[in-house]
Amino acid sequence: MANTVTTQDREIKHLNVLVQVQLNRAIKEIKAKGINPLVVETLRSKERQYYLYCQGRTAAEANKAGVPADYAKKYANPTAKKVTWTLDSIHIQGCAVDVIPQRKVNGKMTAIWNSQDKETKQIISIMEKYGFEPGANWKTSPDSPHFQVKGCRGTTYSASNTTKWVTKMIQFHLEAKGYSVTIDGIWGAKTTAAVNKFRKKCGWKENGKLGKNAIKVLIA
Ligand SMILES: [Zn+2]
Repeated sequence: MANTVTTQDREIKHLNVLVQVQLNRAIKEIKAKGINPLVVETLRSKERQYYLYCQGRTAAEANKAGVPADYAKKYANPTAKKVTWTLDSIHIQGCAVDVIPQRKVNGKMTAIWNSQDKETKQIISIMEKYGFEPGANWKTSPDSPHFQVKGCRGTTYSASNTTKWVTKMIQFHLEAKGYSVTIDGIWGAKTTAAVNKFRKKCGWKENGKLGKNAIKVLIA
């Protein structure tokens, strides 16, 4: 079924490749804890973001914030509840995912939308461990069940241009491949050394960087 502006894309394989591998690992650990996770949304189209932004806003308000006039007119819904505060969601980059627990309540499988729920909190802590930034932890406008990885848009990662979230994910993969790193989100000399050892093994120049192809080999 094709996705429309009102439906969520739930395909993990539509996400950025680094993010999807890491999400699959996190989900495996969530399931091992006996929790049944539900992926609510992965990749989001720009038009759907416009639609969401128009909820709880007038066409003029949405347009002023950057929603093109035709979309603002089409989707404005000032009486609805606001659901987003940004037009630049990381979902559009394929680097964000919403995950909630689901379980039987009174005999019926139920999606749990409650940031204070015990299983929700376990999901948040596991996702954070795997390098995702939980929206639940934001001081202003917390967004549970949102998880994101800022800085995925780049094509070549190195010490100078990589966010702590992407760095953490790369460190996970370096360690999984047997290279000595600390999974702390800090790309220092130890991480560069591990990257270079990996590059040397692949027969590549030891330049301390990971490009698109290197990432593909690293996560395979
Ligand atoms: Zn989200």
